[in-house]
Amino acid sequence: MTIITGAFDVLGKSYEAGTNAGLLSAIARSAEELTSGKGWPEGVNDLLEALGRVTGVSRVWIFQTMALTETHLTQNYTFEWAAAPKYKQIGMSMFSMFTNPIDRPAYRSLIESRLRGEWQKVLLSQLGPGWFRDELDVQKIKSMLTLPVMVENQWWGTLGFDDCEREYDWSDVEISLLRTAGYLISNAVLHDRLSANHKQFEILKRLTDSSVWEFDFNTGQFWCSPEMVNTVPGLTENLRFSLHGALRQVHPNDRHSLLAAVKSYVAMSKGIFRHDLRLLTDCGGLRWVELIGSLRRNSEGRPEQFAGIAVDIRVRKQEEERLREEAVTDPLTGIMNRRMFERKLQDQIDLSLGSGASFVIILFDIDRFKDLNDTYGHHVGDLVLCYFSDTCANVLRKQDVFARIGGDEFAVIFPDVDSDIAQRVGERIRRDISSAPYEIEGESIKLTISGGLALHQGGLTTPAKLLERADIALYSAKRSGRDCLVSTSDIECMSSFG
Ligand code: GH3
Ligand code: MG
Repeated sequence: MTIITGAFDVLGKSYEAGTNAGLLSAIARSAEELTSGKGWPEGVNDLLEALGRVTGVSRVWIFQTMALTETHLTQNYTFEWAAAPKYKQIGMSMFSMFTNPIDRPAYRSLIESRLRGEWQKVLLSQLGPGWFRDELDVQKIKSMLTLPVMVENQWWGTLGFDDCEREYDWSDVEISLLRTAGYLISNAVLHDRLSANHKQFEILKRLTDSSVWEFDFNTGQFWCSPEMVNTVPGLTENLRFSLHGALRQVHPNDRHSLLAAVKSYVAMSKGIFRHDLRLLTDCGGLRWVELIGSLRRNSEGRPEQFAGIAVDIRVRKQEEERLREEAVTDPLTGIMNRRMFERKLQDQIDLSLGSGASFVIILFDIDRFKDLNDTYGHHVGDLVLCYFSDTCANVLRKQDVFARIGGDEFAVIFPDVDSDIAQRVGERIRRDISSAPYEIEGESIKLTISGGLALHQGGLTTPAKLLERADIALYSAKRSGRDCLVSTSDIECMSSFG
């Protein structure tokens, strides 16, 4: 068996004028052009020319229906092919965005016929006197055929054939063939609308850094535009997932909260759904997005479609993280600030309440820091604060909580240790500071610190009370000559001796 293959012939521009075969080949060629070559509007111009030449009419035109009310019709002359310059009408002010009243019964029934998707033909000799005959006379038209162009079941416009030389009576076959030309125009309009929408949508996506998604409750299928999870640019096809597949694209820690949020939204179904989550991208990365969506229900109130956009919020999340960090960090030394320290202290109190485990806090304060500022300047004072913070950080363990809680005041929580161990670490810090002067800008600055230690052995207390106890010990260290560490137990011991 021989299989014969072949490339399609390109339909030429010469048609057998006046025949149905000629009309058919003109339409076929225009169909090719409109779908694969020139689109809107050039392809439509070519179609009108092909139809005009093959039918031998004087003029082929398209009126676009711009607005139709109970009383008026506004149209615009959007396309025209004329066999000779004398037949040209496009651009005339009477045809550019013109509005006619539709009070005349004949005109109204003509419009109603077009709205129903029917064709209309007129031969001048068969037309009685009246406004329509006058209209044709003014335009020197002897015969006319009009077909409505329907787009999405709406009367989008009118395709018209004017003959100024002949009273041409269109056959039913010709009219049927021309109906196909009307479909071609409808398709071109639709295609143009879609591509305009697509372009607008692309701009919107780019400007808002977002992608689109939809979940269909009937099929259980989810789809999204590729940018949602793809980091490789240039992909255009939408991605389709089962509900489980879609959930696998969400960071495991965010799946539960997403499902809970969707469930409560579907139950309430009020307003707009908004939820932040992390998506796993194709290259194994993470992307913070905000899902924004809304729910559509069917006539029985059952959820039908949940759809919306996913906005890339990486920048916002970074900024939020920065602000969160800033709110709990001391800007000079980069360690924790008082607010965060008190929170951690509360956590530690809660923990020891449950476990009964003891912990220790120590307050450190630089001795005569005011004098240091006065002698060497505030700038050197700042450097000393950083130096002290670094010295402590080198000595402390990872689990110790270290913060700057005031001007030259620092605090440490030692979890799960007794007083002796904390005292030894505190002493080491004190010695490290006092044993070697701080060298800066050719100056050798002798530094000492004082410390107050408080042990917490379970039971009810507050961060403020604990800090107050440690502060009493610190005050005692200052009073006893500075450069030393005093524990609350030392004070209690001294007071019991009277
Ligand atoms: P004492 O031995 O009793 O602690 O005396 P002191 O001079 O250190 O007194 P105090 O601890 O009350 O003084 C803290 C000083 O720290 C007061 C303030 O001028 C200074 N200070 C507070 N914040 C900063 C800062 O950010 N940078 C610098 N350079 N100095 C600061
Ligand atoms: Mg001080």
